[in-house]
Amino acid sequence: MRGLIWFKKDLRIIDQLALYHACQQSPDGVIGLYIIDMAMWQKHHVSHCQIEFILRGLQQLKLDLDAIGIPLLIKQIDKTENIPACLLNITTEHKIDAVFFNREYEVNEKKRDKLVTAALTQKNISVLSFDDQLIIPANLTLKSNGEYFKVFTPFKRNWLNVFSNNKNLSLLPKPKLINKMTIPASPLPATLPGIASSIDPALWPAGEATARKLLRAFTQENLLHYDTKRDFPALDKTSKISPYLAVGMISPRECFLTALDQNNHELDSGNKGATIWMSELIWREFYRTILIEVPRICMNQAYQAITDKLPWRNDDSLLESWQQGKTGFPLVDAAMRQLNTTGWMHNRLRMVVAMFLSKNLFLDWRLGEKYFSEKLIDIDFASNNGGWQWSASTGTDAVPYFRLFNPTSQSERFDPEGKFIRHYCPELQAFNHRDIHNPYEKNPTLAAKSRYPKPIIDYKLSRVRILTAFKKLTDKREEDV
Ligand SMILES: Cc1cc2nc3c(=O)[nH]c(=O)nc-3n(C[C@H](O)[C@H](O)[C@H](O)COP(=O)(O)OP(=O)(O)OC[C@H]3O[C@@H](n4cnc5c(N)ncnc54)[C@H](O)[C@@H]3O)c2cc1C
Repeated sequence: MRGLIWFKKDLRIIDQLALYHACQQSPDGVIGLYIIDMAMWQKHHVSHCQIEFILRGLQQLKLDLDAIGIPLLIKQIDKTENIPACLLNITTEHKIDAVFFNREYEVNEKKRDKLVTAALTQKNISVLSFDDQLIIPANLTLKSNGEYFKVFTPFKRNWLNVFSNNKNLSLLPKPKLINKMTIPASPLPATLPGIASSIDPALWPAGEATARKLLRAFTQENLLHYDTKRDFPALDKTSKISPYLAVGMISPRECFLTALDQNNHELDSGNKGATIWMSELIWREFYRTILIEVPRICMNQAYQAITDKLPWRNDDSLLESWQQGKTGFPLVDAAMRQLNTTGWMHNRLRMVVAMFLSKNLFLDWRLGEKYFSEKLIDIDFASNNGGWQWSASTGTDAVPYFRLFNPTSQSERFDPEGKFIRHYCPELQAFNHRDIHNPYEKNPTLAAKSRYPKPIIDYKLSRVRILTAFKKLTDKREEDV
């Protein structure tokens, strides 16, 4: 039997379910396939830096696959609808008996995979798909009545129980060298038309080996202090594993089990840094479960439907100031410049800028979600949508609408010396650590000389506006009942 493994966001060879089974069940050889679907990337506003990261990752994957006897084919298609035909052609040409792939859960991707499965099975080609994106498949972490958890804390409690009862969870090994198929691997495009990333590739070396090295270094050096250091962007003490997880250069199981190992196999006790980091990976599982159970969030809809009645403002110039890091609020601006120049942003700052856009500027959170998608190297629909809807108080288990992160006090608390701000906003270099968080109010003369922008909104008024808007919505909800 000959197999084909269709790679998607799972660009690795260790602990890769579909690849593992393809190798186990195809004694006569396996070929790998990656389909470049520019139309789908464009439709989902996928950042050019992530596309470029994927291309570099494919080069590594090709070498790793070659070492175990699997040639990697690369196909570029014009339209997503052509994928079933593309797979049919390849399976016919190479006499493939079975196609293996890992499932994706977004609406368009699910539709695509359904069409592929129908087209192949009609031609008597077996299709085997797997749940590989989560540490524990979502259907195993539902409530006993089959419903999903809407709140994180009970989700996590249940998740940990399921994990503890599943003692056999271990990493799948690297597949053994198999009967090599004598077809040449495809050359890899170094670039794609219309794709140009301004992010330095040296910031994000691609590939599975790099991801594993990063994970090991983080767990050995920073995991045990994660609880006290993770919130300070200038310290740079989080793992930065997110780009690798987003495209599957490492599995979430490997991340979780490595941390668990470092915590002497204690799941919810032991070192606080380790348990909090593992909890962050459970947030990732939570948002993926929400995506699977509530597919309408893929269709531009708020989880809490009533919040779609909020009268968001329409103001391109405010949006542009936010995007360019020119709002006059130093922590917000430093964060947006970090995103624009590195393709990544620290988690606390993602919450700060997301609340600032949706609550203080009162712009639709979907504008921010889209901008993040266009810029982040770790763009991942479930976590991005979850993070935005949490911050805008439109999601499940979201922050209460009356809780706003004041960017000035967040700045004083999490960048007390202004180190992070000075790095990304050099115009504020001359300010001392007390004034840098609020330059125009604390030292207007120096601020006027600095060429740093004035605040684009009155913070206090913006707060009243959002609270009033949400209050009206709550009143309306009560009227409707
Ligand atoms: C508005 C907003 C948008 C976001 N967009 C994305 C996104 O597109 N892609 C993405 O991977 N994460 C997103 N996050 C979650 C989080 O900010 C990033 O995962 C984290 O900053 C990545 O850095 P790290 O790898 O150093 O994380 P670490 O702190 O080292 O955490 C380890 C891993 O846990 C997971 N994780 C951590 N925090 C969260 C969280 N709040 N939600 C879900 N998973 C989490 C990630 O996979 C992360 O890599 C978003 C958060 C917010 C508030």
